[in-house]
Formats: sequence, structure tokens, C-alpha cells
Amino acid sequence: MKYYSTRNQINYLTAAQVIKEGLSPDGGLYVPSEKLPVLPINIFTGNSYIDMAKTIFKIFLSDYDELEISDAITSAYGIENFDHPEITPLHKLKTGLYVLELWHGPTSAFKDIALQVLPYLLRTAIKVTREKSELVILTATSGDTGKSALEGFKDIPGIKIVVYYPARGVSEVQRLQMITQEGNNVNVAAVKGNFDDAQNGVKAIFGNQQLVKMLKAKGYRLTSANSINWGRLLPQIVYYFYAYAKLLSNEEIRDGEKINFAVPTGNFGNILAGYYARELGLPVNRLICAANINNVLTDFINSGHYNRNRKLKPSISPSMDILISSNLERLLFEITGHDSEKIKYWMDSLAKDGQYKIDNQTQRLIHDIFWSDFADDNETKKSIASVYEEYNYLIDTHTAVGSCVLNKYRETEKDQSKTVILSTASPYKFTGSVAGALFVKETYENYSELELLKVLSKKTATNIPANLSNLDTKTIRHKQVIERDAMPNHLLDFLKLT
Ligand SMILES: *Cc1c(COP(=O)(O)O)cnc(C)c1O
Repeated sequence: MKYYSTRNQINYLTAAQVIKEGLSPDGGLYVPSEKLPVLPINIFTGNSYIDMAKTIFKIFLSDYDELEISDAITSAYGIENFDHPEITPLHKLKTGLYVLELWHGPTSAFKDIALQVLPYLLRTAIKVTREKSELVILTATSGDTGKSALEGFKDIPGIKIVVYYPARGVSEVQRLQMITQEGNNVNVAAVKGNFDDAQNGVKAIFGNQQLVKMLKAKGYRLTSANSINWGRLLPQIVYYFYAYAKLLSNEEIRDGEKINFAVPTGNFGNILAGYYARELGLPVNRLICAANINNVLTDFINSGHYNRNRKLKPSISPSMDILISSNLERLLFEITGHDSEKIKYWMDSLAKDGQYKIDNQTQRLIHDIFWSDFADDNETKKSIASVYEEYNYLIDTHTAVGSCVLNKYRETEKDQSKTVILSTASPYKFTGSVAGALFVKETYENYSELELLKVLSKKTATNIPANLSNLDTKTIRHKQVIERDAMPNHLLDFLKLT
């Protein structure tokens, strides 16, 4: 399988090259250049998650040898990393309604599924491309990506990682997870301001040619663990197949029966993996794109007009607070039959005017597969409460957006296809909001977010994930709070270049 950029179909690259580079130098994203094979429906009957991952990885990583793929997968999804033997267990709420729990990894967010395996894929990529420089991963995070990347890359030889999180905007649990991070090759700093400040600071470092050149001369190459990397997307295709195979073996669906997935969406990475699963032959009816109040994607899917000219509104589902959904570019490329001229035109317009409008035909094609609506904070809280009351099942704020929007879908479209809600974080990562949704004020207002872990556990008789249960006893290792303009110096300090 060879890859090329969504903005130029001249250079063909191997999987190792695209995983090492992350983003194409022309600003586009890497995508498979070849038509995907259609997998037989029963191919995965009786397979474990790990077996399925091996089969799917092999299709896309044809320049990796089988043993390397197999090692990467067994190392990433071992029992010491995931606290459930099924990796992504499927929970039945009632006939026709299921939740796929994607948060059993070491940081309790779905990003672990990709970020546990990416370091191994990257290590092989360094080897086969004979990369001489040491890789330095720079990541700005709104909370989940940073911690997940730190856990994935800690103590990996030949790679260093630096994470910047906004001093305002992450939950207390998320902050503690990051400042207590262990590992000899890691660094974390808070950046004064919000996520955009941290993100812009990282972009400024990548765009600073003088700095990049100097680092190169010292033997360092900057890269990103952002969800634009193909190595982040590929691992996520697996769990769509896993959910389907599980429904089949539990006799919840018939062979070939089409199902829906409801996906809490931000950067469009998770739901795009669902689209690729569908391209590989998975019987998918509708992919339901659930947004929060930052509903750029909802507007786009319903009108064909993408418009980021609005203010970012902080919500209780912060990992979805985003105005530019980068992975949408890949979908547009696929839907237009790999028309890089069109993509360039739209993306130039997005960069210049903050908006673009696609043609009617493309919009119709997208709307045939995707359906979208959004939930505000109030609806999100109501959704947490009603799922708990109805099914005695605890969900986090992001999953609650998915559940709420699924209800809107069923009411509007009258489609009763069986549906899997993708659950993207443990409720224990967002204890403040979850407790606020479930309890009367007196029960939670006197507690810190950290204390609420125990309150929530006791009241709902559910377990705190092990990685969150000892946060208060861990040593704080990363205390720095810096101005955005100080980020380049902070990086040089960490690399001992000042
Ligand atoms: C990152 C994240 C999302 C959004 O996923 P995308 O792939 O960016 O669309 C949703 N929920 C949680 C908890 C996340 O961490």
C-alpha cells in the first residue's frame, strides 16, 4: 500500500515514511493511494481484538514485516496496558443499543487505542527509513491527547516528547495526570491562556525555519503525535470491526445487517476511522457525528458550508472544543474520488477566509453516510442522568453528547437500526461535570474534583480506574507554567541546547 497527499498525487510514499512525517510538506494529509480491499463479512468470526488488529494493520502497513506488526500489537494491547482483556468491551444497554467502551487503556481516554501502538510503528519507521536524527514529539493538548501521548512514548529509545497544555481549560484530573508524568524522555508545561494559545505556540515552533534548522544540525527532528498522523487513524479502524463481530457472535444482529455508530466528534479522527471501516466492507448504515456547542461539523454536514468564523465556546466536553476538524480533509478527498485540485481550493479558502462551500453533489454524498446534530451542556448533563436512571450505566460528558444526538437522530429519521455509541472517556476523567449531572448540589459542591472520584465511586458502585485512583499520592514532576512566547526557549532548555 502506497500513500500520497490529499493536495498532490505525484509523490508516492511508504507507510513508514508517512508515519514518520505525520503531515505532508504541502500542508495536505496522507491517505492510501490504492483502492481498499473489501473484506468478507465473516473474516473475523471468533477472532480476538489482537487477531483483528493484525489482519487490518497488514493491509495498510505492507512495507512493515509481519513480525514487527505482530510485536507492536501485542506490546501495545497487553494486559499491563489495558485493564480489560477484550481491549474495547461492548456493553449492552438494551436490544438495539450498545456502548463500545474505548477507555480501558492507561489514561482512560480512547486516544490510548492509537497512542499505545503508534510509538512502536514510529520506531520501526525510524529504522526502515534510516532516520539519523532523534525524534522530538511536540504536542499541544486540550487534555486527553497529551497524557495519552506521554504514556505511549515514555522511555521509548530514540524519541523525546514535550506536551503543552493550557493553564486554563483542562479538568483537574487531566492536569494531575500530566504533571505527575513519569519517564526519562518526557517534559510537560502549562502555557498561560487557552488551548488555542498552546496550539498556536506549537505551530509557531514548527513554522520557525531557523529553529527547525538549528535543531536539525544538533540531531533533532520535530514531529507531531496529532491525529493527522495516519498512524493515529489506522488503529481506530479495528474497533469498528470488533464491535460488529461481537454483535454477530452474541446474536444481536444477522450476518450483513447494517448498523449505525454514534461518534462524539472533535477533530473527525474517530468517525473517519469508521468511514474507512465501511470502505473495507463493514456493513454500516449511518455514521452519526455528534458535536457539542462548537457545532461547525453539524452545520457543515447539513449545509455543505464549513465556517470557522465564530468564537470557540468552552464546554463540559472539552476534548471536542474545536473549530477546525483537520481530518475532514481526508473525507473530502475520498468522497470526491481523490480530487486534489478541489481539496486545495477548499483548504486555501479555509486558510484565507476561514470558510469554504462544497458543491451540492459532494454534500449529498456525505449526507448519505453521515448525519449530524449537537448537544449543549444542559442536554449533555440530562443525557448522563437519563442513561444512568434508565440503564444504571455511568457515562462521561463526551459519550453523553453521543447518546443525546443519537436520540435526536432516532426521533428525526425514525431509523431503528441497531446502534453502537462509541464511549470515548471514562466518567472518572470528568468527575466535576458528571457529579453535577447526577447529584443534588449539596452532594458535590464541597468536594474537589479529585475527592469526587471517591464520592462518585461510592454513590454509583462503580470502580475508579487504577491509573486515576492514586493520583493524589503521586509526585508532581512538572511544575512549569510559561508564557506562550517562552515555548521555544523551554524546548531548547529541555534539549539542553541553551
Ligand atoms: C479526542 C476526543 C474526542 C474527539 O475525537 P476526534 O477523533 O478528535 O473526533 C471525543 N471524546 C474524547 C473523550 C476525546 O478525548
